[in-house]
Formats: sequence, C-alpha cells, structure tokens
Amino acid sequence: MKKALIFSLAVIFGFALVMGCAPEEQAKTEEKAAAAPAPAKTTFVTIGTGGITGVYYPTGGAIAKIMNMKKDQYGIRATVESTGGSVFNVNAVMAGDLEFGVVQSDRQFQAINGMAEWKDKGKQEDLRAVFTIHPESITLVAAVDANIVTIEDLKGKRVNIGNPGSGQRQNSIDALTAAGIDYNTDITAESVKAAEAPGLLQDGRIDAFFYTVGHPAGNIKEATAGARKVRLVPITGPGIDKLIAENPYYAKATIPVSLYPGAENDADVETFGVKATFVTSAKVSDDVVYAITKEVFDNFDDFKKLHPAYIVLTKANMLEGQSAPIHPGAEKYYKEAGLK
Ligand code: GLU
Repeated sequence: MKKALIFSLAVIFGFALVMGCAPEEQAKTEEKAAAAPAPAKTTFVTIGTGGITGVYYPTGGAIAKIMNMKKDQYGIRATVESTGGSVFNVNAVMAGDLEFGVVQSDRQFQAINGMAEWKDKGKQEDLRAVFTIHPESITLVAAVDANIVTIEDLKGKRVNIGNPGSGQRQNSIDALTAAGIDYNTDITAESVKAAEAPGLLQDGRIDAFFYTVGHPAGNIKEATAGARKVRLVPITGPGIDKLIAENPYYAKATIPVSLYPGAENDADVETFGVKATFVTSAKVSDDVVYAITKEVFDNFDDFKKLHPAYIVLTKANMLEGQSAPIHPGAEKYYKEAGLK
C-alpha cells in the first residue's frame, strides 16, 4: 500500500517535472533518459553449479554477487542453483533450463566434440565459453584404516566415483582405468553425490571417494575433520602419466596439504587436474553475456577475494583453456578491454 502510494507520487511528480519544464530543458531530460535508459523489466539468469560443499557453488555465488551489484543498471538478476555438476550443467544450459553453468574444462572439450557422455547425443554445437576460473584436482580421499596409500590399493574397496551428471565421474573412471583397475569388477563403485561422500566415509560406509574440485573445498575439510582418520592419496604412476600425455585437457597438479590440517599427510599430494570454466549457450543474448563478463573482469580484484581457490587467477589465464567458441558477448568485452 505504502509502496504503491510512493510509486504513484513518484510517477505524478516525474510527469509534472517533464510537463512543467521549458522545451529546452525537456529536451535535455529526454536526452538523458535516452543515454541511460532504465531497464524496463528484469531478466533473470540462473547459474548451475555443483554441491554446496564444493567450489562451484560459492563460485556461482561470487559471480551472482558481482552481477547483482549492478542489477539496476543492467536489469539482470542472477541466481545460483546447486546441481549434480558439470555434465548436468552442460545439458541444462543446452536445454535452456539454465543460462550459465560452471563446467570442467575436460567436459567442455568433450561436449563440444561429442565425446564421453555426449557420444550418442553428438556435438553440443551451441555451447559457448565465457571465461576460465580456478584449477581443480582429481582428489582421492581415503580412510587411513582402509590402508589405501596408492591408487592401486583401491582394489577390493568400496569407492564413491561420483554421481552421473557430475564432472568427476569420468575422471575417476579414467584414473582407475589408467591404474589398471576395472571400476565394474575390481572395486565396489558407489555413485552418490560428492556432498554426501564425507559423511559416508566418516560412517564407515565407504573406504574412499574421488572428487574433482578446487582447493580448499568445504567438502574435503569436512572429510578430514571427523573421528575417522583420513588421508589424501596421490594419483601417480606410469599409467597416469600416459593418461595425461594422451589427453590435452589433463595436466599434473599438486594439492597443498597445508589447506587440510586434519588430513594424515605430511607432504603435498601429487595428482592431475583440469580447470573450472564458465559456459553458456549461443542462444543467451550478447547483452547478458557482455554484462556478466564485464562485471567480473572490471571487478577482478574484488572477485578474486571471494574464494581462496582464486589465488592463482589472472585476467590472462581466465581466457585460457576453453575449447568451445567464445560467446560474442564475452568476445566484445575482451576486445574492448584489450584482452584479445
Ligand atoms: N568438478 C565437479 C563437477 O563438475 C564439481 C566441483 C565443485 O562443485 O566445486 O561435478
């Protein structure tokens, strides 16, 4: 009621102002209005992320926060959705259910080329890259009492490899296969969401789990902070070296153990990794993609402070590691900012 009254008064007052001014002044007012038009309606955009204890969820939150500070200027309101992960996000963005998604660089590569989960569906030709975010490591977390010191020790154990829809599921399968382990017969593979894995590990219902995630992650803190002692297991060996050499999207990575004081590790953990990327669809408007890109890059220092996993980010490396074509809205900003 009160709001409606204030609104009516504002409209009447505004009307009186325009009507009441001299033609010159009226022209000026109109000019101004044309230069900075108030957005007529709000465009809602949703960012698909991952489990709430991962890094995608706070990443979606960080991007939405930066974007929503200018919601009056752009008329765009960004919201975040917790999802099953990269594969889900690609599919939801392609279906138009989400405007943006955080997606592993390897999954972006596979989706655009019609590989892995997209082998039957074919190339996801409308997939568009916006920017690259933090590095993610294939992380193997195991209970100390399960005597798992190398990836080969997973044989005969109960291991969560990740839910269908997650990015990490294929990474787990790749790592196991490269280490000579058949996930169908050599282990008892569980397919639950990463967010549930720390609880299952602490309850003794699994021996280990894989998670492709940036560090530090709440999930790994949770897994290493319980009564059951837990260690991060290196993922190394000749098979893994070959896997990295054969796939352009995999690279060696190290997890600093100082990030997880509760873990039973005394040295940093060698593994391999990918990068988190921000993607959209060719069907999302240039204006929306331009605005989100501009706000993240123009507020780069503030953005970087929003998660400790962003410590390594530079504007230059946020333009690397994409395999899908860059969305024209993002491209416009990169050219304007002299980044390309
Ligand atoms: N990389 C994971 C996935 O694509 C998600 C990691 C996270 O949520 O931080 O499923």
